[in-house]
Amino acid sequence: MLPTFDVTPGVNTDLNALEDAHSSGVYVKRDVQIVRGEGAILWDAGGNRYIDLVGGQGTANLGHCHPAIVAAVREQVGTLIACPELFHHPLRARYQAELCAATGMPRVFLCNSGAEAIEAALKAARLATGRAGIISTMRGFHGRTMGALSTTWEKTYREPFAPLLPDVSFVPYNNVDRLAAALTPNTAAVIVEAVQGEGGVHPAQPGYLQAVRDLCDASGALFILDEVQTGFGRTGDLFAHQHDGVRPDLLCLAKSMAGGLPMGALCIGVRAGALPPASHGSTFGGNPVACAAALAALDVLQRTDLIARARDLGARALDHLRANLPENAAREARGRGLMIGIELRGKVAPVLRHLQRRGVLALPAGATVLRLLPPLVIEEADLFAALDTILETLHEEPNHASV
Ligand SMILES: *Cc1c(COP(=O)(O)O)cnc(C)c1O
Repeated sequence: MLPTFDVTPGVNTDLNALEDAHSSGVYVKRDVQIVRGEGAILWDAGGNRYIDLVGGQGTANLGHCHPAIVAAVREQVGTLIACPELFHHPLRARYQAELCAATGMPRVFLCNSGAEAIEAALKAARLATGRAGIISTMRGFHGRTMGALSTTWEKTYREPFAPLLPDVSFVPYNNVDRLAAALTPNTAAVIVEAVQGEGGVHPAQPGYLQAVRDLCDASGALFILDEVQTGFGRTGDLFAHQHDGVRPDLLCLAKSMAGGLPMGALCIGVRAGALPPASHGSTFGGNPVACAAALAALDVLQRTDLIARARDLGARALDHLRANLPENAAREARGRGLMIGIELRGKVAPVLRHLQRRGVLALPAGATVLRLLPPLVIEEADLFAALDTILETLHEEPNHASV
């Protein structure tokens, strides 16, 4: 039997210690126990309210417990939970058709996370081209499994696990000439994000994705676009690449795909074609509860103005930050839609702690970038209150960022 604890106001430290004692150790958790969410608001065990700019680490574009997701999941868990892709399922059929219509790509492989979508893309690219090489980008992040990790730039994530996939090289993001020089007849794929997320919130410059497309076409490599973080309305388009009018060969999706439930997808274009039978698979992939949630999530995004709202609110948020950032604490604010990064002059960790004490939860992107991924449903007043809290924090203690 588990020990029981008194739930005391604030943080239940006994349960937090229990969680730390038994977890793998890979997560360094914040000193707060989150127990409930609605829209862009979270509450801790002590009833304290937070404006959430973490957005479930990018999984909560629709906000916490969106009524359409709750209803779809409730309905499906009472009907059928387990149904592997040995069998047909009506919701999966509908979802795949909807996703293909939304992306303009004819096929999709369903999985359960971003890294799995990347793994599927790397395998599909090798199968389709018969080549082995992969070109990724500096500061790129594509996940933690061995294949995805091989294409992730950050050394501290990669080096302890060497040797990784051979034939992976890295070129600077937004640099067309370096990519052109790196492509060889052995290049199976080029993999890039539409906006680099973990690497510091760096948007693709206008024309960059089109140049990647053109270089891939010229060399016979496939274009893998990682929209795990930028997809599903985050940047002010359903998918960020639609902003540039470019279509990749392989499109990786996850995070906000299913209203916060775990789900990922590889959308497959005509150049990669259908994958051979049994060449890949996933036991949980295409799970009916995930499909029900994903269908509801896509429907909400397509029937409401949330995406246009993300574009508009994001632009105004960025303007507000740029007009008011204290020069001695921050270098710049950048982003697209409601994916925003503030590059600090010092460390982000103390700023995050300070914000949490003031009721605002936010993310880092590397050591010095403050990253904001608010749910797209965030009330305008909450978003600007949170931005002002960030600005006040940076104004009041410009130096705490450098301690
Ligand atoms: C989060 C993320 C991943 C990895 O997704 P997981 O679900 O954590 O495996 C891959 N690519 C990008 C761009 C991401 O933001």
